[in-house]
Amino acid sequence: MSDRHDHEQAIERWRVAPGDRVRLGDVATDATDGAPGDKHETEDACEELVERLAEWQGRLWAEQRQALLLVLQAMDAGGKDGTIRKVFTGVNPQGVAVSAFKAPSAEELAHDFLWRVHRRAPARGEIGVFNRSHYEDVLVVRVEELVPEAVWRPRYGAIRDFEASLGAAGTTVVKLFLHISKDEQAERFQARLDDPTKRWKFSTGDLAVRERWDDYRAAYEEAIAETSTERAPWYVVPADHKWYRNWVVLNVLLATLEGMDPQYPPEEPGLDDIVIR
Ligand code: ATP
Ligand code: MG
Repeated sequence: MSDRHDHEQAIERWRVAPGDRVRLGDVATDATDGAPGDKHETEDACEELVERLAEWQGRLWAEQRQALLLVLQAMDAGGKDGTIRKVFTGVNPQGVAVSAFKAPSAEELAHDFLWRVHRRAPARGEIGVFNRSHYEDVLVVRVEELVPEAVWRPRYGAIRDFEASLGAAGTTVVKLFLHISKDEQAERFQARLDDPTKRWKFSTGDLAVRERWDDYRAAYEEAIAETSTERAPWYVVPADHKWYRNWVVLNVLLATLEGMDPQYPPEEPGLDDIVIR
C-alpha cells in the first residue's frame, strides 16, 4: 500500500534500531525532516491523518483480536498531554484507554514494578496509551536513587521480556520519547507560570528535576538502547515544534496499525438477500 510506504518513510529516520545507542545530544529537537510543508500545511496534513487513524481504530475495534500500546515518555513539559489531546481527537473514545503513571502508591510499591502497568495494558481491540510508564522505574528511580542499581539494572531485561510477552499475546508495543531542548522546556515552564490557567501544571519540584537534565538524558539514552527491539521499537521524536511532533506521532500510529492490518470480522452469509421492512 503506497500510504503505508509514506507513513513508514516519515518515521523510519526516528526509529531506534535494536542495539543502537542514540546520543540524544546529536538529535535535533527542532528537526522537521520530511514534513509535508510549513506549520500550517503540516497541521492540515495532520487533520487527514487523524481521520485515517479513526478508520484504523474502527477496524482494530471490530476485529477484537489485537491491541496497540503507545508508550509516551518525555522530560517535564515535553508535550505528552498535548500529544494525546491532538492525536486522538478523532477516535472513538470507547476504543482508547489512557493511563497516567504518577509516583507509585504504597500498594503499588508493595508489588513488583510491572504490576500496576500490566493491569493497564490494553484489551483486545483497544489502543492503550501510557502517559509515563514502566520506564519511570529505570529513569526517575535511577536518577533520584530511589532503589540501588542492583534493583533497577535488571529491570531492562524484565521490561524486554514483559513487552515481548505482550507482543506474543497480540499487543503491538511502540515507545516514543518526545525530545525537547532544555531551552524549550524553560519557555514552556515560563508559559505555565505566566498563565493563571496553566499554573496548576507547574510544581517547584520540576525545577529540581530540570537541574539534573544531563543525568536524565543519560538515563534515557541507556534505557532506549537497552529496550528498543524489532517488535517493540523506540522512536525519538523531535518535539520542540508541536506540529511536527504530532505529525510524527500520527505517522508512527498509522504505520504500526497498517502493519498490524486488523480486519473486519467475516459477515454472516446471506446478508445480501435481507431487506429490512
Ligand atoms: P507534566 O509533564 O505535564 O508535568 P507529569 O507526567 O509530570 O505531567 P506529574 O503529576 O507532574 O505529571 O508528575 C508525575 C510524577 O510521577 C513524575 O515526576 C514522575 O517522575 C513520577 N513517577 C512516575 N512513575 C514513577 C515511579 N515508578 N517511581 C517514582 N516516581 C514516578
Ligand atoms: Mg510534571
